[in-house]
This record gives sequence, structure tokens and C-alpha cells, in this order.
Amino acid sequence: MNGIFAAIDLGGTKTRVGAVLASEPGRVVLSASAPTVREDPDEGIKSIASLLREIVSDVSKSTGGRNAELLGVGVGAPGPLDIKERRLLALPNLPKWRGFGIASALERELGVRVTLENDANAAAVGERMFGVGKEFEDFVYVTLGTGIGGALILNGELYRGHWGGAGEIGHVQVDPDGPLCGCGRRGCVEALAAGPAIEKAYGRPATEVFALAASGDVKARDVLETAGRALGRGLALVFTVLDPQAVVFGGGMAKGNPLALRFYLDACKEELEKRAFLPAKRDIPHVVSTLGVDAAILGAAWLAREEYLKARETNRHRSGPMPKVVEKPWGKEVWWAHTPRYAGKTIYVNAGHSLSLQYHQRKAETMFFSSGEGTLYLGGEEIPIKPGLSVDIPPGTVHRVTARTDLVFHEASTPEVDDVIRLEDNYGRARC
Ligand SMILES: [Zn+2]
Repeated sequence: MNGIFAAIDLGGTKTRVGAVLASEPGRVVLSASAPTVREDPDEGIKSIASLLREIVSDVSKSTGGRNAELLGVGVGAPGPLDIKERRLLALPNLPKWRGFGIASALERELGVRVTLENDANAAAVGERMFGVGKEFEDFVYVTLGTGIGGALILNGELYRGHWGGAGEIGHVQVDPDGPLCGCGRRGCVEALAAGPAIEKAYGRPATEVFALAASGDVKARDVLETAGRALGRGLALVFTVLDPQAVVFGGGMAKGNPLALRFYLDACKEELEKRAFLPAKRDIPHVVSTLGVDAAILGAAWLAREEYLKARETNRHRSGPMPKVVEKPWGKEVWWAHTPRYAGKTIYVNAGHSLSLQYHQRKAETMFFSSGEGTLYLGGEEIPIKPGLSVDIPPGTVHRVTARTDLVFHEASTPEVDDVIRLEDNYGRARC
């Protein structure tokens, strides 16, 4: 398979984008980073999209044009996320991005499917497919840094939980009377074992505490061991319930001095093995990532690839051959109003093409056809499209527009809540 899958690792201060070739999914061929536009998500998305287009174009050139097509984009974003509506939820470092429908905004910019995932989940998938996690069918992934994130790989697959919140090891409460956590509760693993807790316990930045511990400072070593034990207590709960094989560590702190990190991880392992209820005494591997920052990029790109292949398979079964991705994509949309209460756009469909078969869970829309002819499939009925036709489409009604000649219609709706369910779709469809 030729083409490019790209990934975005959205951060509170910096965003990294990377590209992998569809033929070589385990290697980031090109990456770049830029400061995150914290004040304005719409501007932020434009800047990320333009950086991404640049690297895709460079990769295309460097492979002699064989990989010109961007097939899909994966986003790893700080959680928690609303995975059903593909929105960001609370981001302590990016308050203006709260509630932002990042996936659909990027789809409008880039014209390809965007897959949104929590950044720790994306990194865990990267480790599972291409890193130290290859060895394990079942593992807990832990990111160590200013916060503690986590993810679960069970039966070789990412386990998201019903609402996408699974694996939050940082907020497992291990001391009900412990220090206040950023989440508002007390004594979470994060409040006891992340960088700021280490800094508070020693009175120096965590990176310095690591360096001091490595050079033999007893207090620094104690501080790291105490933090590691708190993490071990949290992991013991996870191991008692899920009985996985191993713990894989990533994040900034996992790149710290290996000797000092060992104090932390050995204390964690000892506490975990002492406190977990396990079927038999076990030696639980504590393994440190070798992919580093590439883990999230590789994982997000892999998830985009899986979604691409799944949709391609669905299309093949439903409608014979894979629809050809045309150079000038059909279904061009132009927004002419998009306010909190109301949204409107004009959609151009090339002759011979169809928009996806879809329905909305909550959104109601009205379509007004101004030129061209075709067929509107609406909940089992086929309505001939002629200029002047106006149709109300209630939520839950399956619909599709098929153009016999070039077709223009205008759509007015309640604001986009990104609740579209596409029963059949094609890649290469531009959304703006
Ligand atoms: Zn917490």
C-alpha cells in the first residue's frame, strides 16, 4: 500500500506532527514541532494543518511521488476526551481548547478522516505495535512526567473503556488523606508519584533529584523510592483486577537518568508485587520505552491506519470496488454561517458522485437544492432532486445525496454537534 498516514501529538505548549509511510508503519519518516496556539483552537488547527501539509509534501517528494496521498490522520490529545463526539474535554494546560471538536475541525482542513485518541492510549498502541510492548499481550502503560497517565493493552488490543476513560492509573487513590491532586481528590498516585510530588518532597526540580540520586544522595534516593512505592500501590489495584503481564513506562521522567529511574521503578515493582493479589508469586517486568516521543506518533498513525482499512473493507463489501479517490474531491463544502445557535453551508457535488449514506443522532437539517439534478435517498424513499426542492431531515433519518449532474445545495442545521453516523463513506472526500 502506498500513501502516508500522519499523526499529531497535541501538547499543552508544543505540538508535534509526524508522518509514516503506509508501507512502513513502524518508522516516523519525518516529524516537526511548533508551539501550540493556546489562545485560539481554530487558529491552532490551521497552524497544525499547515505544518502537517508541509511534511506530507516533503515525504511525497522524497519518495519520488510514490507516496503522494495522505490516507488518514491520527491525533493523540491530552485526555480525558469525549470519544463519542470526538471532542477534547478538560485540558488544564489548554483551557481555551476545552470542548473543541478537534477531529471534525481537522477533517475540514485536511479533507481526510481524522482519528482522535487519548495521548497515553496512542503511545501504548505505539509500544504494543513497534516498541517494548511487542513482547506482551497484556500490559499497563504508564507515562511518567509532570502528570501520570496510563493506558491498558488487553488481549493485544487497546482497552478504552465505555467512555474512553480506562487506564487512568494517575488518579487511582492510594491515600485518602494524602495531598490534594489536580483532579480535586486526595492522595491519587499522581499527587504522590509524579514530577511535582518529587520536587515538593526534596525542594529541588525532579530532574535535579534524579541527578542527585544517581550521584549517591541518600535523601534524593529516598524521595524517588517513596514516589515509586505510591505508584506501585496504585498498580497493585490494577493487577489484582486485571492480572496483566507487565508494566511499560514512557514519558519525560522515564528518559531520566537510568540509575535513578531504577530506584523509582524497583520500589514500584517491590510494592506492586507485595500488595497485589496474584494467582502465583510473579516477577512482573517493569520495562522502559525505547520509542520515546515517537510512541504517540506511531500509535496515532497506526490507529488512523486501522480505521482507514476498516472503512475500505466496509466499502468493498457494500459497494463492490473501492471508490476511486478523485484528484478534485467531490462533496466540497463551503460554510456560510457557523454560530453557536446555527450552522449553514453550501455543498457542491460533482456529477456521478454520492455523499455518504448517513444520519445524525441529534442534529436536524434542512436541505435546499439550488441547481443540478439527482436523487435524495431519505429513509427508504427516493426523491428526485430538482432546483427549488427543499427537504427537512429529522434526526435519525438515513439520507444520501446522489448527483446525476453537477449539483449544488444549501444546508441549514442546528450547530454541528459532530454526531454524524456514516453508514457508508469514501476516503478522499473533502469536507471544506
Ligand atoms: Zn487525581
